[in-house]
Amino acid sequence: MLSGNPIEIVKLRKEYGEFVAVNDLDLSVKKNSFTGFLGPNGAGKSTTLKILTHLINATSGEAYINGIDVTKDPKKALTNVGTVVETPEFYPYLTPKETLKYVGQIIGMSPESIMSETDRILEKVKMAEWADKRIGTFSKGMRQRIALGQALMNNPNVIILDEPNSGLDPRGQAEMREILKNLRNNSNNLTVIMSSHVLHEVSDLCDRIALINHGKLIVHDDISIIGKDDGTRRMIVKVEGIPDSGMIERILQLNNVVSAERFGNDIDVTIKGDDSIRVKFYNDLGALNIGVYGVNEDSALETTYLKLIKESR
Ligand code: ATP
Repeated sequence: MLSGNPIEIVKLRKEYGEFVAVNDLDLSVKKNSFTGFLGPNGAGKSTTLKILTHLINATSGEAYINGIDVTKDPKKALTNVGTVVETPEFYPYLTPKETLKYVGQIIGMSPESIMSETDRILEKVKMAEWADKRIGTFSKGMRQRIALGQALMNNPNVIILDEPNSGLDPRGQAEMREILKNLRNNSNNLTVIMSSHVLHEVSDLCDRIALINHGKLIVHDDISIIGKDDGTRRMIVKVEGIPDSGMIERILQLNNVVSAERFGNDIDVTIKGDDSIRVKFYNDLGALNIGVYGVNEDSALETTYLKLIKESR
Protein backbone atom coordinates (compact mmCIF):
# COMPACT_ATOMS: atom_id res chain seq x y z
CA MET A 1 0.00 0.00 0.00
CA LEU A 2 1.58 3.29 -1.11
CA SER A 3 1.64 6.23 1.30
CA GLY A 4 0.93 8.92 -1.31
CA ASN A 5 4.35 10.47 -0.88
CA PRO A 6 5.95 11.81 -4.10
CA ILE A 7 8.90 9.40 -3.96
CA GLU A 8 8.27 5.88 -2.78
CA ILE A 9 10.99 3.25 -3.04
CA VAL A 10 9.90 -0.30 -2.25
CA LYS A 11 12.31 -3.22 -1.78
CA LEU A 12 14.60 -1.78 -4.41
CA ARG A 13 17.57 -3.97 -5.28
CA LYS A 14 20.52 -3.59 -7.60
CA GLU A 15 23.04 -6.35 -8.04
CA TYR A 16 26.28 -6.19 -10.00
CA GLY A 17 27.12 -9.88 -10.34
CA GLU A 18 27.53 -11.12 -6.77
CA PHE A 19 27.75 -7.60 -5.37
CA VAL A 20 24.62 -6.01 -3.93
CA ALA A 21 24.79 -2.22 -4.37
CA VAL A 22 21.21 -1.51 -3.27
CA ASN A 23 19.86 -4.03 -0.82
CA ASP A 24 16.03 -4.19 -0.75
CA LEU A 25 15.87 -0.49 0.07
CA ASP A 26 12.62 1.01 1.34
CA LEU A 27 12.35 4.79 1.40
CA SER A 28 9.36 7.09 1.31
CA VAL A 29 10.17 10.77 0.78
CA LYS A 30 7.69 13.20 2.30
CA LYS A 31 5.85 15.72 0.13
CA ASN A 32 7.44 19.19 0.13
CA SER A 33 10.49 17.98 2.04
CA PHE A 34 14.08 18.78 1.14
CA THR A 35 15.72 15.47 1.92
CA GLY A 36 19.47 15.00 2.24
CA PHE A 37 20.41 11.55 0.97
CA LEU A 38 23.54 10.62 2.88
CA GLY A 39 25.91 7.71 3.21
CA PRO A 40 29.61 6.93 2.89
CA ASN A 41 31.33 6.30 -0.46
CA GLY A 42 29.86 3.23 -2.11
CA ALA A 43 26.72 3.22 0.07
CA GLY A 44 24.46 3.03 -2.98
CA LYS A 45 23.21 6.62 -3.22
CA SER A 46 24.02 7.26 -6.89
CA THR A 47 22.80 3.82 -7.87
CA THR A 48 19.46 4.51 -6.17
CA LEU A 49 19.14 7.94 -7.79
CA LYS A 50 20.09 6.53 -11.19
CA ILE A 51 17.35 3.93 -10.91
CA LEU A 52 14.89 6.63 -9.84
CA THR A 53 15.78 8.67 -12.91
CA HIS A 54 15.81 5.62 -15.19
CA LEU A 55 19.50 5.90 -16.10
CA ILE A 56 19.94 2.28 -15.02
CA ASN A 57 17.54 -0.58 -14.37
CA ALA A 58 16.90 -2.15 -10.99
CA THR A 59 17.42 -5.86 -10.44
CA SER A 60 14.10 -5.96 -8.56
CA GLY A 61 11.77 -3.79 -6.53
CA GLU A 62 9.74 -0.70 -7.29
CA ALA A 63 10.43 3.04 -7.38
CA TYR A 64 7.39 5.30 -7.60
CA ILE A 65 7.44 8.98 -8.43
CA ASN A 66 4.12 10.77 -8.07
CA GLY A 67 2.54 7.34 -7.78
CA ILE A 68 3.95 5.91 -11.04
CA ASP A 69 6.56 3.15 -11.03
CA VAL A 70 9.71 4.32 -12.84
CA THR A 71 10.72 0.73 -13.41
CA LYS A 72 7.49 0.11 -15.38
CA ASP A 73 6.56 3.43 -17.02
CA PRO A 74 9.61 5.73 -16.82
CA LYS A 75 8.33 8.31 -19.30
CA LYS A 76 5.15 8.95 -17.35
CA ALA A 77 6.82 8.68 -13.94
CA LEU A 78 9.42 11.30 -14.87
CA THR A 79 6.98 13.81 -16.41
CA ASN A 80 7.10 16.27 -13.51
CA VAL A 81 10.62 15.51 -12.39
CA GLY A 82 13.77 17.59 -12.74
CA THR A 83 17.09 15.81 -12.40
CA VAL A 84 20.78 16.62 -12.14
CA VAL A 85 22.30 13.19 -11.71
CA GLU A 86 25.27 12.79 -14.00
CA THR A 87 27.89 15.35 -15.01
CA PRO A 88 25.98 17.42 -17.54
CA GLU A 89 27.07 17.54 -21.16
CA PHE A 90 26.22 20.57 -23.26
CA TYR A 91 26.72 21.67 -26.82
CA PRO A 92 29.63 24.08 -26.28
CA TYR A 93 28.62 26.34 -29.16
CA LEU A 94 25.14 26.98 -27.72
CA THR A 95 24.38 29.67 -25.14
CA PRO A 96 22.46 28.98 -21.91
CA LYS A 97 19.39 30.63 -23.45
CA GLU A 98 19.56 28.45 -26.58
CA THR A 99 20.17 25.37 -24.44
CA LEU A 100 17.09 25.93 -22.30
CA LYS A 101 15.02 26.73 -25.41
CA TYR A 102 16.16 23.46 -26.93
CA VAL A 103 15.17 21.57 -23.78
CA GLY A 104 11.79 23.35 -23.77
CA GLN A 105 11.17 22.25 -27.37
CA ILE A 106 12.12 18.65 -26.59
CA ILE A 107 9.69 18.48 -23.69
CA GLY A 108 6.93 20.04 -25.79
CA MET A 109 6.54 23.48 -24.20
CA SER A 110 4.80 26.24 -26.17
CA PRO A 111 7.01 28.96 -27.72
CA GLU A 112 5.47 31.55 -25.36
CA SER A 113 6.21 29.59 -22.20
CA ILE A 114 9.69 28.71 -23.47
CA MET A 115 10.33 32.47 -23.83
CA SER A 116 9.06 33.41 -20.40
CA GLU A 117 10.40 30.38 -18.55
CA THR A 118 13.89 30.65 -20.05
CA ASP A 119 14.40 34.17 -18.76
CA ARG A 120 12.85 33.41 -15.38
CA ILE A 121 14.94 30.28 -14.89
CA LEU A 122 18.21 31.84 -16.01
CA GLU A 123 17.54 34.51 -13.38
CA LYS A 124 16.81 31.81 -10.79
CA VAL A 125 20.05 29.92 -11.41
CA LYS A 126 22.05 33.17 -11.54
CA MET A 127 22.98 32.79 -15.20
CA ALA A 128 21.08 35.76 -16.66
CA GLU A 129 24.33 37.69 -17.04
CA TRP A 130 25.77 34.94 -19.27
CA ALA A 131 22.51 34.07 -21.04
CA ASP A 132 23.91 34.80 -24.52
CA LYS A 133 27.51 33.63 -24.10
CA ARG A 134 28.66 30.29 -25.48
CA ILE A 135 28.80 27.51 -22.87
CA GLY A 136 32.15 26.21 -24.21
CA THR A 137 34.18 28.50 -21.98
CA PHE A 138 32.07 28.18 -18.82
CA SER A 139 33.34 26.91 -15.45
CA LYS A 140 32.02 23.72 -13.87
CA GLY A 141 29.93 25.77 -11.44
CA MET A 142 28.24 27.64 -14.30
CA ARG A 143 27.55 24.39 -16.17
CA GLN A 144 26.09 22.89 -13.04
CA ARG A 145 23.77 25.89 -12.73
CA ILE A 146 22.63 25.47 -16.34
CA ALA A 147 22.02 21.79 -15.59
CA LEU A 148 19.78 22.82 -12.72
CA GLY A 149 18.10 25.32 -15.06
CA GLN A 150 17.36 22.50 -17.51
CA ALA A 151 15.89 20.48 -14.65
CA LEU A 152 13.56 23.36 -13.78
CA MET A 153 12.23 23.86 -17.32
CA ASN A 154 9.27 21.51 -16.95
CA ASN A 155 8.21 23.15 -13.67
CA PRO A 156 8.85 19.94 -11.71
CA ASN A 157 7.26 19.05 -8.40
CA VAL A 158 10.08 16.58 -7.70
CA ILE A 159 13.78 17.32 -8.09
CA ILE A 160 16.48 14.67 -7.84
CA LEU A 161 20.06 15.87 -7.37
CA ASP A 162 23.17 13.71 -7.09
CA GLU A 163 25.91 15.68 -5.32
CA PRO A 164 25.11 18.98 -7.05
CA ASN A 165 28.16 20.61 -5.46
CA SER A 166 30.66 17.92 -6.33
CA GLY A 167 33.82 19.30 -7.92
CA LEU A 168 32.86 22.94 -7.43
CA ASP A 169 35.19 25.42 -5.75
CA PRO A 170 34.03 27.03 -2.47
CA ARG A 171 32.53 30.00 -4.30
CA GLY A 172 30.70 27.72 -6.77
CA GLN A 173 29.41 25.65 -3.86
CA ALA A 174 28.14 28.72 -2.02
CA GLU A 175 26.36 29.95 -5.17
CA MET A 176 24.68 26.61 -5.78
CA ARG A 177 23.64 26.41 -2.13
CA GLU A 178 22.13 29.89 -2.36
CA ILE A 179 20.18 28.95 -5.50
CA LEU A 180 18.85 25.77 -3.89
CA LYS A 181 17.91 27.67 -0.75
CA ASN A 182 15.95 30.22 -2.79
CA LEU A 183 14.26 27.39 -4.63
CA ARG A 184 13.27 25.79 -1.34
CA ASN A 185 12.03 29.06 0.16
CA ASN A 186 10.05 30.15 -2.88
CA SER A 187 8.32 26.92 -3.89
CA ASN A 188 5.14 25.64 -2.33
CA ASN A 189 4.91 22.33 -4.12
CA LEU A 190 8.39 20.94 -4.44
CA THR A 191 9.97 17.80 -3.09
CA VAL A 192 13.73 17.51 -3.37
CA ILE A 193 16.05 14.60 -2.71
CA MET A 194 19.74 15.47 -2.85
CA SER A 195 22.74 13.30 -2.16
CA SER A 196 25.69 14.99 -0.55
CA HIS A 197 28.77 14.38 1.56
CA VAL A 198 28.84 17.93 2.87
CA LEU A 199 27.02 17.85 6.16
CA HIS A 200 27.02 21.58 6.81
CA GLU A 201 25.42 22.05 3.39
CA VAL A 202 22.81 19.44 4.27
CA SER A 203 22.12 21.16 7.62
CA ASP A 204 21.70 24.43 5.80
CA LEU A 205 19.32 23.15 3.12
CA CYS A 206 17.52 20.04 4.24
CA ASP A 207 14.70 19.45 6.69
CA ARG A 208 14.90 15.64 6.42
CA ILE A 209 17.75 13.16 6.24
CA ALA A 210 17.82 9.64 4.82
CA LEU A 211 21.05 7.85 5.64
CA ILE A 212 22.00 4.63 3.88
CA ASN A 213 24.91 2.23 4.12
CA HIS A 214 25.55 -1.00 2.20
CA GLY A 215 22.44 -0.24 0.16
CA LYS A 216 20.16 -0.26 3.20
CA LEU A 217 18.34 2.51 5.05
CA ILE A 218 19.95 3.26 8.43
CA VAL A 219 17.83 6.19 9.52
CA HIS A 220 15.26 8.54 7.97
CA ASP A 221 13.83 11.40 9.97
CA ASP A 222 13.67 15.16 10.50
CA ILE A 223 17.10 16.74 10.71
CA SER A 224 16.05 18.35 13.99
CA ILE A 225 15.72 14.84 15.45
CA ILE A 226 18.76 13.18 13.84
CA GLY A 227 21.03 16.18 14.42
CA LYS A 228 19.74 16.82 17.95
CA ASP A 229 22.53 17.73 20.30
CA ASP A 230 22.75 15.11 23.05
CA GLY A 231 26.03 16.56 24.25
CA THR A 232 28.20 13.93 22.56
CA ARG A 233 30.93 15.59 20.53
CA ARG A 234 33.68 14.23 18.34
CA MET A 235 36.82 16.33 18.31
CA ILE A 236 39.94 15.99 16.24
CA VAL A 237 42.84 17.01 18.47
CA LYS A 238 45.93 18.15 16.58
CA VAL A 239 49.24 17.61 18.32
CA GLU A 240 52.81 18.43 17.42
CA GLY A 241 54.56 15.35 16.01
CA ILE A 242 52.99 11.90 15.93
CA PRO A 243 50.51 11.04 18.70
CA ASP A 244 51.73 8.21 20.92
CA SER A 245 49.87 5.79 23.17
CA GLY A 246 50.98 7.71 26.29
CA MET A 247 49.22 10.86 25.07
CA ILE A 248 46.08 8.91 24.20
CA GLU A 249 46.11 7.22 27.60
CA ARG A 250 46.30 10.60 29.37
CA ILE A 251 43.43 12.01 27.31
CA LEU A 252 41.35 8.92 28.08
CA GLN A 253 41.78 9.62 31.78
CA LEU A 254 40.27 13.10 31.55
CA ASN A 255 36.75 13.52 32.88
CA ASN A 256 33.89 12.97 30.40
CA VAL A 257 36.08 11.50 27.67
CA VAL A 258 34.20 8.59 26.10
CA SER A 259 36.87 7.48 23.64
CA ALA A 260 40.25 8.55 22.26
CA GLU A 261 42.17 6.92 19.43
CA ARG A 262 44.82 7.80 16.91
CA PHE A 263 43.45 9.24 13.67
CA GLY A 264 46.34 9.70 11.22
CA ASN A 265 48.57 12.33 12.81
CA ASP A 266 45.75 13.53 15.05
CA ILE A 267 43.76 12.12 17.95
CA ASP A 268 40.05 11.38 17.54
CA VAL A 269 38.35 12.11 20.87
CA THR A 270 34.70 11.84 21.83
CA ILE A 271 33.44 13.58 24.95
CA LYS A 272 29.99 13.73 26.50
CA GLY A 273 28.64 16.73 28.36
CA ASP A 274 27.19 20.20 28.05
CA ASP A 275 29.02 23.41 27.14
CA SER A 276 30.57 23.80 30.58
CA ILE A 277 31.99 20.26 30.35
CA ARG A 278 33.49 21.19 26.98
CA VAL A 279 35.14 24.28 28.48
CA LYS A 280 36.59 22.09 31.23
CA PHE A 281 37.82 19.58 28.64
CA TYR A 282 39.72 22.31 26.75
CA ASN A 283 41.33 23.48 30.01
CA ASP A 284 42.27 19.94 31.04
CA LEU A 285 43.64 19.21 27.57
CA GLY A 286 45.87 22.31 27.71
CA ALA A 287 47.10 21.30 31.16
CA LEU A 288 48.31 17.93 29.82
CA ASN A 289 51.13 19.72 27.98
CA ILE A 290 51.12 17.33 25.05
CA GLY A 291 51.65 20.01 22.41
CA VAL A 292 48.06 20.56 21.25
CA TYR A 293 47.96 23.20 18.53
CA GLY A 294 44.34 22.91 17.43
CA VAL A 295 41.02 21.13 17.91
CA ASN A 296 38.37 20.65 15.21
CA GLU A 297 35.00 20.08 16.79
CA ASP A 298 32.36 18.20 14.77
CA SER A 299 28.78 19.49 14.79
CA ALA A 300 26.12 17.42 16.54
CA LEU A 301 24.97 16.16 13.11
CA GLU A 302 28.49 15.13 12.08
CA THR A 303 28.99 13.32 15.40
CA THR A 304 25.70 11.41 15.00
CA TYR A 305 26.41 10.65 11.34
CA LEU A 306 29.78 9.07 12.13
CA LYS A 307 28.34 7.11 15.04
CA LEU A 308 25.54 5.70 12.85
CA ILE A 309 27.96 4.81 10.05
CA LYS A 310 30.30 3.08 12.51
CA GLU A 311 27.41 1.07 13.96
CA SER A 312 26.21 0.02 10.50
CA ARG A 313 29.57 -1.26 9.23
P1 ATP B 1 29.77 7.90 -3.65
O1 ATP B 1 29.39 8.72 -2.46
O2 ATP B 1 31.20 7.50 -3.63
O3 ATP B 1 29.33 8.49 -4.94
P2 ATP B 1 27.50 6.10 -3.67
O4 ATP B 1 26.82 5.96 -2.36
O5 ATP B 1 26.86 7.00 -4.67
O6 ATP B 1 29.01 6.49 -3.45
P3 ATP B 1 27.24 4.09 -5.69
O7 ATP B 1 27.92 4.87 -6.78
O8 ATP B 1 25.79 3.96 -5.77
O9 ATP B 1 27.66 4.64 -4.26
O10 ATP B 1 27.92 2.65 -5.71
C1 ATP B 1 27.48 1.63 -4.82
C2 ATP B 1 28.36 0.44 -5.01
O11 ATP B 1 28.09 -0.15 -6.29
C3 ATP B 1 29.86 0.76 -5.02
O12 ATP B 1 30.54 -0.25 -4.30
C4 ATP B 1 30.22 0.73 -6.47
O13 ATP B 1 31.57 0.33 -6.66
C5 ATP B 1 29.26 -0.31 -7.03
N1 ATP B 1 28.96 -0.06 -8.44
C6 ATP B 1 28.39 1.05 -8.95
N2 ATP B 1 28.26 0.94 -10.29
C7 ATP B 1 28.78 -0.27 -10.64
C8 ATP B 1 28.93 -0.96 -11.87
N3 ATP B 1 28.52 -0.44 -13.01
N4 ATP B 1 29.50 -2.19 -11.82
C9 ATP B 1 29.90 -2.73 -10.65
N5 ATP B 1 29.77 -2.14 -9.44
C10 ATP B 1 29.22 -0.91 -9.44
